[in-house]
Amino acid sequence: MNKKALRSRIIRALKQTQSIDQNLYQKLFEHPDWQTAKTVAVTLSAPIELDTAPIIDRALSQGKRVVVPRTLPDFQMEFVAYDHTTPLFQTAFGIMEPKGGSVIAKPEIDLIIVPGLAFASRTHDRLGFGGGFYDRYLADYQGHTISLARGPQLFETPNWDVNQFDIKIQTIIS
Ligand code: ADP
Ligand code: MG
Repeated sequence: MNKKALRSRIIRALKQTQSIDQNLYQKLFEHPDWQTAKTVAVTLSAPIELDTAPIIDRALSQGKRVVVPRTLPDFQMEFVAYDHTTPLFQTAFGIMEPKGGSVIAKPEIDLIIVPGLAFASRTHDRLGFGGGFYDRYLADYQGHTISLARGPQLFETPNWDVNQFDIKIQTIIS
């Protein structure tokens, strides 16, 4: 293939990937659980994940309170109020976490955007990154959960082992 043809093919493919991500954001913003949520929990995404910055920006611009996770010993975590002035630091795992800030109690969180590696659309199962952080946190969580799944992350049924402690996700957007 000549250079010119290959360039336009790749640019087209990259734009398509971008527009698939835009579509995920759009579906999230149209979801009733998003629209009614006053406090939304979102991660500060790692480079391989769907970028959560547009989600955080939209939430803040709509006057929602944003909370982001901070890991604790023993695979526990808590959520801390976040805005663009919140000081962050990079953990040993390369993830950004808030330094200081107010911890927001679980019952105050209306919606958690749950990260993960794979999701089963029919059974609502989730494969996380292996720490079990969200399984622990969600075990007694009463609010709404939504996960956003890009193409390679989406399965119809889980082709991985599902355990007793694995918590299902209410809504999987793909
Ligand atoms: P992930 O959900 O991140 O993909 P796993 O489902 O494999 O990871 O869980 C990781 C570990 O976390 C498991 O070995 C499990 O023992 C532990 N775990 C998960 N949920 C709980 C819980 N509610 N209480 C105690 N340990 C848990
Ligand atoms: Mg799990």
